[in-house]
Amino acid sequence: MSSVFPAEQHSLPSYSSPGPGAKRWMDIHLKPVTLLTEQDHVEHNLASERRKVRLHHEDTFKNLMKENNKFEDPICDEEEGMVPTSGTSVQSIELVLPPHANHHGNTFGGQIMAWMETVATISASRLCGAHPLLKSVDMFKFRGPSTVGDRLVFNAIVNNTFQTCVEVGVRVEAFDCQEWSEGQGRHINSAFLIYNAVDDKEELVTFPRIKPMSEEDFRRYRGAIARKRIRLGRKYVISHKEEVSLCVHWDISNQGALSNANVEGLKNLAARSGWEVTSAVEKIKIYTLEEHDILSVWVEKHVERPAHVTYHLLSDFTKRPLWDPHYVSCEVIDWVSEADQIYYITCPVVNGDKPKDLVVLVSRRRPLKDGDSYMVAVKSVILPSVPPSPQYIRSEIICAGFLIHAINSSSCTVSYFNQISASISPYFAGNLGGWSKSIEETAASCIQFLENATEDGSINIF
Ligand code: ADP
Repeated sequence: MSSVFPAEQHSLPSYSSPGPGAKRWMDIHLKPVTLLTEQDHVEHNLASERRKVRLHHEDTFKNLMKENNKFEDPICDEEEGMVPTSGTSVQSIELVLPPHANHHGNTFGGQIMAWMETVATISASRLCGAHPLLKSVDMFKFRGPSTVGDRLVFNAIVNNTFQTCVEVGVRVEAFDCQEWSEGQGRHINSAFLIYNAVDDKEELVTFPRIKPMSEEDFRRYRGAIARKRIRLGRKYVISHKEEVSLCVHWDISNQGALSNANVEGLKNLAARSGWEVTSAVEKIKIYTLEEHDILSVWVEKHVERPAHVTYHLLSDFTKRPLWDPHYVSCEVIDWVSEADQIYYITCPVVNGDKPKDLVVLVSRRRPLKDGDSYMVAVKSVILPSVPPSPQYIRSEIICAGFLIHAINSSSCTVSYFNQISASISPYFAGNLGGWSKSIEETAASCIQFLENATEDGSINIF
């Protein structure tokens, strides 16, 4: 939840919205904390990241909204069972009485939040017909005070749904005693509440999609997508989970099974349901999927090159540093077979950290019949002959790769998938959160490479 104060202040908090006559606290300059242990440094860096996200929130949101306005919307694909936004609109009115306020007569912030939650819950239940559970609150903003005698009007509506969660927005306006009947109130609060719902078996309910009708509905629908991106970005850039290695040991006697598992893993990831479009600019579309706190990204791009040539160029990972700035070098360390190679990859230094390196198995498959996709699956493996070295942080690719689907004889769709591990999540999180454009830039560079390289892979553009 964002700070209740408009900007970061090192001042003491007040527990109710400050009234017109309330005294202002003096700003106190706090001494910097002394960091002793490694854990202190980690926590300190995470706090800085959170602060950055908070302070840039407004600009990031505006940029994402500008970008969202450009993309032709996923709303176009109408679905059965969509619920018009207006069907979830709820209004409630409360009178601020003395028990709702402090000794200055200012309404308790917590009381306003409780009223907001009540009206938002009713709005969410109109959509799902079940009892919704509040999961998180985004951007709770106290914009101004209200006092005893004010009439508070709460308006809530569902802005958008994302598979198993729904965003409800609430706006609160205050009218004082003289304004009982007419005119606009003072806008004192807004918040966005995220709900889940569970069925009788305690399983998460998939919400019906919302159908925006008016211009305002569309604007809020897009606003909810932008907030979701910022939340995702914040969650994965900030969470500092210990990496649990899911790498398998490379075993030559079991190479067939490992190679098939690699390809099946990619196929399964691509076939999951619930992918959500998070951005679509020109030839590049980005989707995300979040399942049990595991984030996966799918980048789809349109390439003016035949599928077989594209496959040939993408399945040779030694060419990847030519178009992917996240790869510094990539060399084959074991040519297992025509279909499987093991590569050693090094990545550039980011934020002054040690550079990362990877050992991956790349398994490639041509389509067995017309209409199927070419596949290039990637997964980290443990190879005793290439142990982690002190100069590099050994990273991991859990499941990633390309599916290449022919559109016609001269163009194809390239889909890049990546199930994101903790070690690479900051790269993607910054992008989703809107404070980096690295996915789009890498995808554009990939398209340029594919469309300009000669068939044998030599490059005439770089
Ligand atoms: P915005 O409309 O830009 O999202 P507001 O602060 O005006 O920001 O409103 C916050 C949220 O309150 C909206 O996103 C919407 O969900 C809800 N809301 C605002 N006005 C109304 C209304 N007249 N009826 C129902 N819900 C409303």
